[in-house]
Amino acid sequence: MLGRRVNARRTTAERVNVLRMLPNGMDAGSITVVALGLLAAGVIGTLLGVLGTRSRLAEAEQRAEAASTEVARRAALERERRAVQDLILDSMQEGVLLLDAVLETAFANAALERHLGSRPRSVTELFPVALREAVRKVATSTAPITVEAELSAPSRWLRITASPAGEGSVLMVVTDITDARRIEAVRRDFVANASHELKTPAASIQAAAETLRSVVGEDPGAAPKFAVQLEREALRLSRIVADLLDLSRLESGSELADRVRLDALAREEVERFADQAREAGISLSVSASEPAIVGGSARDLSLLIRNLIDNAVRYTPPDGTVAVRVSTEGADVQLEVQDSGVGIPTRDLPRVFERFYRVDRARSRETGGTGLGLAIVRHVAENHGGSVTVTSEVGAGSTFTVLMPTTDPGSPPG
Ligand code: ADP
Repeated sequence: MLGRRVNARRTTAERVNVLRMLPNGMDAGSITVVALGLLAAGVIGTLLGVLGTRSRLAEAEQRAEAASTEVARRAALERERRAVQDLILDSMQEGVLLLDAVLETAFANAALERHLGSRPRSVTELFPVALREAVRKVATSTAPITVEAELSAPSRWLRITASPAGEGSVLMVVTDITDARRIEAVRRDFVANASHELKTPAASIQAAAETLRSVVGEDPGAAPKFAVQLEREALRLSRIVADLLDLSRLESGSELADRVRLDALAREEVERFADQAREAGISLSVSASEPAIVGGSARDLSLLIRNLIDNAVRYTPPDGTVAVRVSTEGADVQLEVQDSGVGIPTRDLPRVFERFYRVDRARSRETGGTGLGLAIVRHVAENHGGSVTVTSEVGAGSTFTVLMPTTDPGSPPG
């Protein structure tokens, strides 16, 4: 900038020199005019130079300003990216731990602390030991390692995948698999129980069929006895299969497309059991005075009511009573099945809704039970956003209560 200004002055001086070298014949006036003209030209030039410099300065300032805005914009973007990254990592169910080349913690998200109970500062603070060993192994290898380990107090199972993350660092992802393991165990038990339940009538059918074959020639009079046994066991087998199929269908939910009149459904089901109750000397009654409407599956709700009435009739001795009541309780529809039967001991009450749980195995079998009725009832109630509870006294009877949200009678059919 300074150089340019000097140049501008030098140009003015040169112009004065030119003035000195004017040819003869030019008078002082003309010389003055020419000199003033040249001077003015110089001043204008200088002015223009200064102005040019100013505009270049402004341009440079603008460029610097734009550059610093860009830097600030990039920094803000980076901060935003990191915030999003932290948000994602912290809201993950999986614990994430990054250990650097000397196996010290470089990053740990919130879930990791939840799963391990603390934030390890380095590999030496990693528990259980299986985890530490996996990390050390991975730090010197190229392949990831997955281990499953149990933590105590409270007991939990974790699945840990440690992967090499370059230059000796290790990335660890921790998943809580306690629930998955529990579900797996329940399924295993269920398959074992179901196989056992099916094996018994299948073996009885086989034995009855073999005996029947031999008595037909030797002692035809004994044949009907074995034929009856064959029929009874075949019926039991098909009941178990039917209940298993219902249960498996209900596990994937109910089709909640109908607008169901639960009061009408209760009457239908009571009607269906009328003969059986009469034969057993049981008085079976129904009270459902008002329309009780539930949005759901008519087929599944019938199944629910049928199972509760069936149990009440089966576990009530002659001269007993079974009462079915349907009412609306605020925003809920309530179904109550009360009997004066054998009752359920308090210690068994929390377990009666489990699959294949029976208080009295022999009585259940004798009366054609499968051990699946109440599990079906619970599934249907829950599929309809409701619940089922039981109160009971041994020798006095039991009351099963189902509560389900009602559908406003004014609303259009679903
Ligand atoms: P089950 O086919 O054996 O009746 P459920 O799942 O329907 O199987 O019922 C589980 C167990 O709960 C029954 O075995 C029985 O011991 C008990 N239980 C169910 N309902 C009643 C009831 N109304 N009165 C007494 N005990 C009942």
